[in-house]
Amino acid sequence: MPHVVTQACCGDASCVYACPVNCIHPTPDEPDFGIAEMLYIDPSTCVDCGACVSACPVGAIVPGHRLDEKAARFVDANAAHYGYTQRDAVRFPVQQDWRLPLAPIDKPKAVRGGPAVIDIAIVGSGPSAMYAADELLKQPRVRVTVYERLNLPFGLSRFGVAPDHTSTRLVMDLFDEVARHPNITILLNTEVGRDVTLDELRAKHTAVLWAGGAPTDRPLPVPGVDLRGVQSATSIVGWYNGHPDFVDAGPDLSTERVVVIGNGNVALDVARILTADVDALADTSISRDALASLRESKVREVVVAARRGPEHAAFTLPELIGLADGSARVWVDPADLVGASVDGVDDPTIAAKISLLQEISQRERPAEPFIRLTFGQTPVAIEGSDSATGVRFAHEGSESVLETGLVLTAIGYRGVPVPGLPFDDATGTIANVDGRVTDTPGVYVTGWIKRGPSGFIGTNKTDSGQTVANLLADIEAASPGR
Ligand SMILES: Cc1cc2nc3c(=O)[nH]c(=O)nc-3n(C[C@H](O)[C@H](O)[C@H](O)COP(=O)(O)OP(=O)(O)OC[C@H]3O[C@@H](n4cnc5c(N)ncnc54)[C@H](O)[C@@H]3O)c2cc1C
Ligand code: SF4
Ligand code: SF4
Repeated sequence: MPHVVTQACCGDASCVYACPVNCIHPTPDEPDFGIAEMLYIDPSTCVDCGACVSACPVGAIVPGHRLDEKAARFVDANAAHYGYTQRDAVRFPVQQDWRLPLAPIDKPKAVRGGPAVIDIAIVGSGPSAMYAADELLKQPRVRVTVYERLNLPFGLSRFGVAPDHTSTRLVMDLFDEVARHPNITILLNTEVGRDVTLDELRAKHTAVLWAGGAPTDRPLPVPGVDLRGVQSATSIVGWYNGHPDFVDAGPDLSTERVVVIGNGNVALDVARILTADVDALADTSISRDALASLRESKVREVVVAARRGPEHAAFTLPELIGLADGSARVWVDPADLVGASVDGVDDPTIAAKISLLQEISQRERPAEPFIRLTFGQTPVAIEGSDSATGVRFAHEGSESVLETGLVLTAIGYRGVPVPGLPFDDATGTIANVDGRVTDTPGVYVTGWIKRGPSGFIGTNKTDSGQTVANLLADIEAASPGR
């Protein structure tokens, strides 16, 4: 039985390059790569060679013979991407007439121009920075200095990814390996703009690559958001992951109901952590303070409220499968799915999400504390005089108030301007063309501050590859004679 990509896939496409028969898609060259919710193995062409398993940094690929019942939905998801239905996938025989080709090792093209030592500053040490460093360090003449404002490296792969997503967090092992390269120096507790200026970096280094991420939340534009008891999901995520900026952001968990506004993967992360079995969380990297607060929590229900219907759910299919089949207790009120149907839905991922939500809605309401996913609820105001007492939602022409003492906004992230660099206010990014900062020679961008806050950890690999290729090409073009 063919290999299957499962929940932990963070889209770095390492498996694509490892696969000898090109059966993993979308590849970075294909148009839907940037928007795909995961990568998928074509069961009809996979030859079960296992090359992708060793290439995957987060253990997301499972050989067919090791799949358990829980992974069955991923068998379907992989197969459905290629137009096969249900469990057709298990029937594909492994092809016998293949052999693993000798690995085509692409030796990176050496940079021919520029100074004897190409000295690059990278601002930030998140995934985009580390993938960029990895790419740059393939050039023996390159030295990299990473400037990171926090006391620990690797950005959101450490301070964003949920502590119970242990496989995804394994990507930090890869970044550790990059950090051990002799030609890289990582300066922690060093904020560019506070401890050193951008102009100083530009004067000192051959080029500067800004990889500072998109650190702020998109604000919820309704009255009452400033009340006590309304917090951003960012602050909660930072709090449970031990982010130094959010040590004091612990929420008041004396309320029985929490309302999370927005239903992307971050909303699901937060809901999962607030309803998780605390003893199971104790074995993860969760902050000890957060763990102690969760032990005292009175929360019985976390409502994840989405403005639009299930066909527009922002969470990805792998995350929903993880929620439905994992240890989380999740529920959907059948009344919330009235009118939802897979009829006429062409996209297999959307269809799979709708059917799984329908399946969940047929289950018994789980024991408390549990997560309730709701749809079609537009928040119009946070109620309360001093602290939040409820959220007023509009739903099909009428309004109602859902009582709660804690409201978490999770409607997306946004980049902030960097003094001295052009900012595109519409997208919340540093203005750039393919990573070259507009009208600012020698300065480049990558990651969320380049393309906006979308995609997975691995999406930053191809993104950084593009920026680094342009950066090196500019160095060559500036003094090609060397
Ligand atoms: C809550 C959350 C959970 C997520 N979970 C997953 C997941 O499970 N799987 C997945 O694939 N993707 C996940 N993602 C997405 C993933 O984390 C991002 O794609 C990725 O981190 C973006 O990388 P980046 O390098 O652009 O930014 P970041 O990871 O934000 O890194 C930016 C770095 O720059 C530093 N910095 C900023 N300004 C300065 C300055 N002036 N000087 C010095 N340093 C500076 C910051 O401290 C930070 O370390 C999650 C995102 C969030 C927000
Ligand atoms: S097992 Fe081999 S053939 Fe199948 S997807 Fe992985 S690399 Fe490709
Ligand atoms: S994480 Fe990377 S290597 Fe692993 S399955 Fe996803 S794209 Fe492939």
